[in-house]
Amino acid sequence: MAVELDLRRALVRAGRDLYRQGMMAGASGNLSARLDAERILITPSGSAKGRLRPQDLLVIDPEGRLIAGEGRPSAETAMHTATYRALPGVEAVVHAHPVKAGALAAANRPIPTDTLPEALVAMGDIACVPFIPSATTELADAVAAALTWADGALLFNHGAITIGRSVDAARMKMEILEALSDTAIQVQMLGGGVPLPAAEVARLRGIWRQRRWEQR
Ligand SMILES: [Zn+2]
Repeated sequence: MAVELDLRRALVRAGRDLYRQGMMAGASGNLSARLDAERILITPSGSAKGRLRPQDLLVIDPEGRLIAGEGRPSAETAMHTATYRALPGVEAVVHAHPVKAGALAAANRPIPTDTLPEALVAMGDIACVPFIPSATTELADAVAAALTWADGALLFNHGAITIGRSVDAARMKMEILEALSDTAIQVQMLGGGVPLPAAEVARLRGIWRQRRWEQR
């Protein structure tokens, strides 16, 4: 059970960090981690992610049904479970409503990664998912499909989602996605970014692809 307690603590830490960084205001956002093939830990609906305790996390099955814990699983559970089903390498999922990514999501503007080499190596691309109402299987399927080729997605008129090989990796991807959103907004004010040469973009994207399931 040590593994389960460690995972619970990692989710609590990530929730606190993301809340303090302004990415999960109020009770928004949700976090999850794969416990084993049959069980996922997820935040309860309506919880303040900055004040979670390890015992507050719920255990659900891969279809989103509650196995253990008190409360209702997050309303966005389907986004998490669809992602775990589609991508066996994913160990954690973070969904947040960060301010800057939220601005781009509200404006239906993408977050480019092809102007900064480190962004490409860290994230590959950041997918854009067109607006689909929250808590629907249509949104869950669209998100899972987008994440097959990206570590993060901007959900238009909603927020953002990232995945990782660990809770901390998924949290860091969200932090990077939000930093890149800030940069993207400032670059727009300068009149637009200058993409790297196409061959360099392809090479760096290749490095991301190669390391994708190695980083923990
Ligand atoms: Zn949301």
